[in-house]
Amino acid sequence: MDHNIDLRLNKDVLMLLENARLETYEKWPNDKTWYCTPEKLAKSGFFFNPSSDSPDNVCCAFCRKELDCWDPDDEPLAEHKKHSPKCLFLTLSCPVENLTAVEFLKLVKDVTVFRASYFFDKAISTFESQAADTRQEIIKHISK
Ligand SMILES: [Zn+2]
Repeated sequence: MDHNIDLRLNKDVLMLLENARLETYEKWPNDKTWYCTPEKLAKSGFFFNPSSDSPDNVCCAFCRKELDCWDPDDEPLAEHKKHSPKCLFLTLSCPVENLTAVEFLKLVKDVTVFRASYFFDKAISTFESQAADTRQEIIKHISK
């Protein structure tokens, strides 16, 4: 039996760390003299995650909320609170870098559970919507 534990950090876990998030902003397209800087975005939980449609798109490492179309005077933390008020990042009492190993592992578990419940809520609402459509189709055929 193999008892080795793999301690390499995958990208999802690495992005929980502010310095790792800041390193993703190497090709940030917006003016670096803006109030809304890569430093403030990384400090507010976001890593840079651009696409061709959203060149300044960022993603929260904790709740996966994506935001783009930043304005020069946007306040990243205020935008985070406005668009994802239940995010775990907003409940942290200290920077992730200051957590003990045990606290960090608990955070990884909590983030995983948070994302899973978000995914399942979405899957359930899609299922319920499809079930309602199917029900309507069945009723339409029965009443013919
Ligand atoms: Zn978040």
